Amino acid sequence: MSEKITARDVLLVVDVQNDFCPGGRLAVPRGDEVVPLINALAEKFAHVVLTQDWHPPGHLSFASSHAGRKPFETIAASYGPQILWPDHCVQGTPGAQFRDDLRIPSAELVLRKGYHRAIDSYSAFYENDHTTPTGLTGYLRERGLARVFIAGLAFDFCVRYSAEDAHRQGFAVVVVEDACRGIDVDGSVAAAREALNKLGIPLVASGDIG
Ligand SMILES: [Zn+2]
Repeated sequence: MSEKITARDVLLVVDVQNDFCPGGRLAVPRGDEVVPLINALAEKFAHVVLTQDWHPPGHLSFASSHAGRKPFETIAASYGPQILWPDHCVQGTPGAQFRDDLRIPSAELVLRKGYHRAIDSYSAFYENDHTTPTGLTGYLRERGLARVFIAGLAFDFCVRYSAEDAHRQGFAVVVVEDACRGIDVDGSVAAAREALNKLGIPLVASGDIG
């Protein structure tokens, strides 16, 4: 399948930050490999938005915030199950910075998420309580952007939930699968692929976008 880019399309680049790449505190295996693909992809789009995971110290999603808990365990948060992660993307730290080799000078918006201490935010549209909006829907709508291409880290969490929410908000959605990498906690990559298929969200290769 080939996808022709129009002026109403936006590329949403999810969380290409040091902590999500090898050497980082919540490294996605081979996460760094998405960078050259995303740099090239961004040059094809008139509109690019970057998201940045941006947690205060002591964030609820950190295992270290819960006595006796370890990373990758699940707790019952007020809004439902929440996987606990190693401390990552703490506001103002080098780990929270975008990769140095991510070169998208044309990006029009950097959307930070996960800054409420008691709610995690995988999706770029809604926090994990599924009711607190980030404002991205309004931003895209006001600007007349109708179709969202999504790439970045991690495929099975922030990319997946951003794609699902974009779809529910009425945007057309395309996931650029080769420009994503997954963490894969308990089969979460397969689950993500199934969830996206069920919604009819196409998974395409960056080479098919022009
Ligand atoms: Zn996070």
